[in-house]
Order: sequence, then structure tokens, then C-alpha cells
Amino acid sequence: MATTKTTAKSTKSTPAEKSTTTKTAAAKTTAAKSSTAGKSTTSSRGIVKAKASAAEGLKELFVDSLKDIYWAEKALVKALPKMAKNAENENLIAGINNHTTETEEQIARLEQVFQIIGEKAVAKKCEAMDGLLKEGQDIMESTEPGPVRDAGIIAASQKIEHYEIATYGTLCAFAKTLGYDDAAEILHITLGEEKQADITLTEAAYNTINFDAAEADENEVE
Ligand code: FE
Ligand code: FE
Ligand code: ZN
Ligand code: FE
Repeated sequence: MATTKTTAKSTKSTPAEKSTTTKTAAAKTTAAKSSTAGKSTTSSRGIVKAKASAAEGLKELFVDSLKDIYWAEKALVKALPKMAKNAENENLIAGINNHTTETEEQIARLEQVFQIIGEKAVAKKCEAMDGLLKEGQDIMESTEPGPVRDAGIIAASQKIEHYEIATYGTLCAFAKTLGYDDAAEILHITLGEEKQADITLTEAAYNTINFDAAEADENEVE
């Protein structure tokens, strides 16, 4: 529990990695099979090698997952206003703005959860959310403002919501398994908001935007 894991390390080459390199020669006699193990994190049989900082139990995995989604929500709260600015449909804009407010509350809820489990609220880069947000940016860059860009924003946003739904579903289950019932309840509130955000986006798409986008298409059916 009282791990000495450093959380704010930004350098890629950790002391652990360096010592691995220097020990390689000495380790040759004992590890005849791992001749290529110096740089690879995957064994020849496809088994991923754990880092020295690997989670030792479900609690640590839970904490790591919380740090991941904490980063993701913080990135989202910055990205959502930009998406709203690029949308034209008023329902869509209202939906995104409402979810921005919810996202601020979700960040505060995560801080509550960290407190409940006695951990510091630390953000750890979520590569998936980073990628999803980049896709959103790409979609906006490759569409003119209007119904087609709106449809693209909805598509990108739904991928984001689905990622969050999966994440909070897992976090809820972890919290319950670990006996953190209060934390599970808080996470469940956010899970409900993410599901509702997804429904709102689907409705926005069906009610107006995808229809308009189809009309804007020069190859109209009939
Ligand atoms: Fe969220
Ligand atoms: Fe993630
Ligand atoms: Zn739940
Ligand atoms: Fe969300």
C-alpha cells in the first residue's frame, strides 16, 4: 500500500530501464533465452513483461484506472467547448455545453473517490482519450462547418462517450469488489451521465443532423 512509486516522472528512460541495460551482460548466464529481452516488453510467447511499477493487486489497478480517467476528463473539459464552437446545430451545441458542465462535476467526483480510498488525486495520461480527441480534431479539419461537420462531431463524441461508459462500468465493478461501496455509488452517478450523453447524441443525430447531412450530399437518393 505505501508504495514508493513516483507519479510525476516525465522522463522516458527510467532508472530501472538503465540498470536493466547495464545488468544485461551479467544476466546472460542466467537468462540464456532472453537474448532480445533488453528492449522488448513482450516475450517470444507473446506474454507482456510487467514493469517494476506494475500493479500488485486490484486496488492498485483501480487507482491506476482512476488516474487514467482523471486525465481523460480533464482533457475533455478543455476539448468540449471547442467542439461546441465548431457545431452549428443548436440541439447539439446545447448538448455539448450541458455535458461540459457535467464533466466538471465528474472531475470533482473523481477527486471525492480518490479521497475516499485514501489516495492523492493524480492524473496519468490516457493514451486512448488522447487518440480519440485527435480523431475529433481530424474530423473537424476535414469537414466544412455545417451539418456534415456536425455529424462528424457527433460520431467522434459518441466514441468518447463509449470509452467513458466502458471505463466507469469497470471502475464501478472494481470499487464494489474492493468494498468501496460509497466510491462505487459516486462512480455510478457518472456512469449514468455518460450513458445519457450518448443517448442525447444519438437523438441529435436522428432528429436533425444526419438527415441534413444526407440532404447536403450531392448524391441524394431519390
Ligand atoms: Fe466524462
Ligand atoms: Fe484510458
Ligand atoms: Zn455502477
Ligand atoms: Fe462524457
